[in-house]
Amino acid sequence: MVKRYSDLYLDARRALLPSYGQEQAGFVARQLLCAASGKSQEAILANRDKFAGESVCDTMESWTLRAVAGEPLAYILGQWEFYGMTLEVTSHVLIPRDDTMAVAELAVRQTLMLEHDPRVLDLCTGSGCIGLAIANQVKDVRVTLADISREALAVAKKNTVAHKLTGRVSCVQMDVTQTAPAFLGQFDLIVSNPPYVTSGEMLELEPSVRNFEPALALDGGGDGLDFYRAIVEHFKDSLKPGGFFCFEFGMGQGNDVCRILKEAGFQILEVKKDYSEIDRAVLAQKIREEEMHRGEQENSL
Ligand code: GLN
Repeated sequence: MVKRYSDLYLDARRALLPSYGQEQAGFVARQLLCAASGKSQEAILANRDKFAGESVCDTMESWTLRAVAGEPLAYILGQWEFYGMTLEVTSHVLIPRDDTMAVAELAVRQTLMLEHDPRVLDLCTGSGCIGLAIANQVKDVRVTLADISREALAVAKKNTVAHKLTGRVSCVQMDVTQTAPAFLGQFDLIVSNPPYVTSGEMLELEPSVRNFEPALALDGGGDGLDFYRAIVEHFKDSLKPGGFFCFEFGMGQGNDVCRILKEAGFQILEVKKDYSEIDRAVLAQKIREEEMHRGEQENSL
C-alpha cells in the first residue's frame, strides 16, 4: 500500500515513540524517511501531500521495524558521520563514536607536526574511521589500516575508495596478538582504538551494543587491557625512534594503559578527555635509545 510522505513520517514516528521517546522518535523517523526516499528534509516537507513510490514505502516499513527492535540507526542507514566524513558501516564494524574524536584529534594533531612523508598505522581499524580521518586531514601522510577481520577490512577499503584516498591509504589483514610482520616496516605513529571492554562489562552492555555491534571489536579480555599489552609488545619495534603510540581507552583504564606504555620505555605526552569530560585517549613517545642509556647512567651515578 502506498502512502503519502506525511503519513510515512507520522506512522514511523508513532511506532518509534515507545522506544525512542518524543524528541528522538521524530528525529529517527525523519532520518529514515530521508534515506529511504533519497530526498532532503525540505523536499519531503514540500512533497508531504504526494504519494511515495512502493519501494520507499516498503523500505520505510522494514527500517522502522528494525529500529523498533533496537537496531542502531547507523546500521540501518549503512552509514555514519565521523570527523566530517560520511563512512559506510556494517554490523562487522563498530559505529564510530563521539568518544573516538579524542584519539582521532590527538593523532591528527601529532601527525600534522611530523616531517618528511609521515607513515601512520591504524590497528584494529574497523570502519577505518581514525586512519581515514588522519589521511583526510594531513595531505602528505601515508596510512596503513589494519584489522583481523576481513569483513571489517572490506568496509575500510570501501571507505578509502569513497573518500578518494587509495593513493595514500592501504589496508592489510593483521592479528595484533602476533608479532608484527617484517613487511610492515616502521611508522612515525601507531594509533588504535582496540577492543577494551572487560569480560565483566561484556555481560552488561546496553542491548543496542550487545545485540548489534561486533563482540570481536569490543572484548578486551579479563581486565580489558589484553590488546594494549599485545600492541605495545608486538608493535613497539614497528615505531621509528621517537615515534608515537596513540590509544583510545575505556573509562578508568588511563592509569593502567599509561603504566603499560611507561614500562615499555614510552614517555606519556598527553592524556585527552572526551566530550563527557572522561579521560579517553593517550599520546606517548618512544624514548630514543641514547636517552634511555643516558637515563640509566644518571640513575647509576
Ligand atoms: N566505547 C565502546 C563501548 O563501550 C567500546 C569501544 C572499544 O572497545 N574499543 O561501547
